[in-house]
Amino acid sequence: MGVFPAIGDEFEEVVFFHDPQSGLKAIVAIHSTMLGPALGGTRFYPYRSEGEALTDVLRLARGMTFKAAAAGLDLGGGKAVILGDPRRDRTEELIRAYGRFIDTLGGRYITAEDVGTTGEDMDLVRRETRYVTGVSPAMGGGGDPSPVTAYGVYQGLIACAEEAWKDSSLQGRRIAVQGVGKVGYHVVKHLVEAGASVVVSDVDVDSVARAVREFGVDTADPDKIHAEECDVFAPCALGGIIRDDTIPSLKCRVVAGSANNQLERPEHGEALQELGILYAPDYVINAGGLINVADEIRGYDRERALARVREIYRTLRAVFKVAGEEGISTASAADRFAEERMRKVSRLRLYWVPGRSQYGTRSSF
Ligand code: NAD
Repeated sequence: MGVFPAIGDEFEEVVFFHDPQSGLKAIVAIHSTMLGPALGGTRFYPYRSEGEALTDVLRLARGMTFKAAAAGLDLGGGKAVILGDPRRDRTEELIRAYGRFIDTLGGRYITAEDVGTTGEDMDLVRRETRYVTGVSPAMGGGGDPSPVTAYGVYQGLIACAEEAWKDSSLQGRRIAVQGVGKVGYHVVKHLVEAGASVVVSDVDVDSVARAVREFGVDTADPDKIHAEECDVFAPCALGGIIRDDTIPSLKCRVVAGSANNQLERPEHGEALQELGILYAPDYVINAGGLINVADEIRGYDRERALARVREIYRTLRAVFKVAGEEGISTASAADRFAEERMRKVSRLRLYWVPGRSQYGTRSSF
């Protein structure tokens, strides 16, 4: 049976954990530790099959390598999945068994919350291992990363405005925000404060009502928000919104938002480029949450985390520059930017320095 071909030769390590008593079945994929320990969240999801879970964890782990590298972090990429329905299968015993397994990896993989897991789960994991971030402030964590992610998106939007209009101000710009959940809500807040004219949509009517009540924004039909006449379309809901059937109806100059995997397929990045639409690569502009949890490794400091999140502005400017110089899409330019950093920084590790940890600085772990 060809297990290695199924995993692919890009991955350093894939670990399967099984604890029959608690019902835990989990997979941890470590894509790369070239820049540092692999950090990525734990997804708790009722996959239809183990094969589907493996495919998902591999895809997500690879994405984390690029995200951390582009964000300027000394971290690698990894991800974990717990197979099951969190509403039915989540118990203290299962989560702690999971934490105990994570501990056996000795810090090569550091976990965090993701779809289906919560900050409370991370607090339970913390009781079994140090190798977890996204714990509650009471346990030394940074709390909900969503406002920080939104702050990063806002910084990224300023970089987009400069690139598109040679003017960093968002005053008077029409911005269509799809999804006003944990991140989208705070994105709208920043935009309204900056004087933008905002239109929102959400499938959840209460979330829309709150945005209207608190910020006086306009609303659009969830099925049509991407086709809104606007300067910026900001996807802050689910992935895959930029695809064959939505691209022809876009009427914006910029696509920039928090959603993960906004492009249904990589070639949709080129499709936006051909239409003259500036795309802020999702993993660059939405890295604020990762930067925030990564800060916990050194002992969480909000101001330091926010300062690092402000760097998203400069990273995006650099990505746009690479795209312009090479004549490639901004999505491809982001990959190239991340790969270049991995290549350059990892090369320095070839020098042996007495008394120095492999990763340059010592973490609190
Ligand atoms: P959330 O679940 O709090 O918010 C998503 C919102 O989108 C919800 O209000 C939901 O009702 C709405 N929605 C779903 N389908 C929709 C549709 N078709 N049209 C309009 N609205 C729709 O999630 P979140 O934490 O705000 O994350 C939003 C996106 O940002 C996700 O793609 C997530 O992966 C990504 N992201 C989040 C963070 C973070 O710190 N939370 C970090 C990086 C990336």
